[in-house]
Amino acid sequence: MNFYIETYGCQMNVADSELVTSLLITAGHNVVNDIDQAELILFNTCSVRAHAEDRVLGRISNEKHRKKANPKIQIGVLGCMAQRMGKRLLDSKIGVDFVIGVDQYDRIPALLSAKDLQPHLLDFDSTQIYQDLMPVHQSKTCGFVTIMRGCNNYCSYCIVPHVRGRERSRPWQDVLNDVKKAGQDGLLDITLLGQNVNSYLDNEVDFPELLKRLETVDNIARMRFITSHPKDLSDSLIDVMASSKRICEHIHLPMQSGNNRILKEMNRKYTIEHYQSLIHKLRHAVPNVAITTDIIAGYPSETDTEFEDTISAMKDIGFDYAFCFKYSSREGTDAAMRTDQIPEAIRLKRLQKMIDLQREITLAKFRAQIGKEVEVYIESMSKKNKDQVSGKTRDFKIAVLKGSESEIGSLKKATVIGATAGTLICQ
Ligand code: SF4
Repeated sequence: MNFYIETYGCQMNVADSELVTSLLITAGHNVVNDIDQAELILFNTCSVRAHAEDRVLGRISNEKHRKKANPKIQIGVLGCMAQRMGKRLLDSKIGVDFVIGVDQYDRIPALLSAKDLQPHLLDFDSTQIYQDLMPVHQSKTCGFVTIMRGCNNYCSYCIVPHVRGRERSRPWQDVLNDVKKAGQDGLLDITLLGQNVNSYLDNEVDFPELLKRLETVDNIARMRFITSHPKDLSDSLIDVMASSKRICEHIHLPMQSGNNRILKEMNRKYTIEHYQSLIHKLRHAVPNVAITTDIIAGYPSETDTEFEDTISAMKDIGFDYAFCFKYSSREGTDAAMRTDQIPEAIRLKRLQKMIDLQREITLAKFRAQIGKEVEVYIESMSKKNKDQVSGKTRDFKIAVLKGSESEIGSLKKATVIGATAGTLICQ
């Protein structure tokens, strides 16, 4: 059967889609990149914000005409929305045939060959780590390797622990094998994935030790990891980052708020002072480290003054980039049950203020690189100029430079000659 997967949300979902692709190919099915060729259409979905869910629901609904034209076509929903909404997706009349939870993907081949499609499988499997499955990498340049699944933190606004279950770390040898395979496949850039990679633990191997063991793999030029929780970022991890030649000078460290009362309400388990001390240590140990973050505006009960603490922290720290969001209430989380929700108009106003500030900071950070030499990993042709290629620097900035398709997958030294708030222009 020809199958097509459309992936939404974070890199964990990209990695899960690679896993499902591997499972289905092993079972004799063919992956296609053109939805018109598919008899099985899978949507791997995201629940992190209401907007993300609405977008996917609209997208699935748009495809139901295909089933009218060809009743053999099946539409399946995977990922966090499948886990969160379950049977409601089947009842929604948008044309969904089956729904599969995040720990049940290895049952998809059997489901497809069964006469009666079992409609939804949603239980958490507290041991599921998809051991021994070698993902089929979708990118020809960057490899995503899942090192753990689930999250134990229960941040009060977050749906992830509710839809992905408790933390489970993969055996370090399996991670090593995946990274070796990615290197053999010619992927020079590896990103290790987990909701909280800092709490990775496989017997005596913690996250810094895992990084040390991966450092020796042939062919890999760059390693990154997402996401780090500030409460678990250890000095030994910073030491490994400082001494490694492969770990890129970049860390994504969600701050979420610059106010201690709000951080406590969010159940984040660190103070803004602790967060700032981590930034200080990182910048001291890894010169030129780029720091990116996530920040939420308008968490329930956040006052104007508390929001201004976030603005001050953004100014003090000077993130290279910040993913700014307005608080989005997710049914099932503690924060969604609160009665002191901030009105939408105020959340939007605060969000806009953060975005405007961050744009200025990011532009200044990018401009500060003019005249410097950077290493660019060429990933694609530029979308705007057919004589240019596009790639990423070690510190996770998009760079464009003159080049051709044959250079995709290679590392190039270049000099930064200009910058916008999103792109380094190099030659
Ligand atoms: S650490 Fe918090 S925000 Fe991140 S996935 Fe876990 S619960 Fe969600």
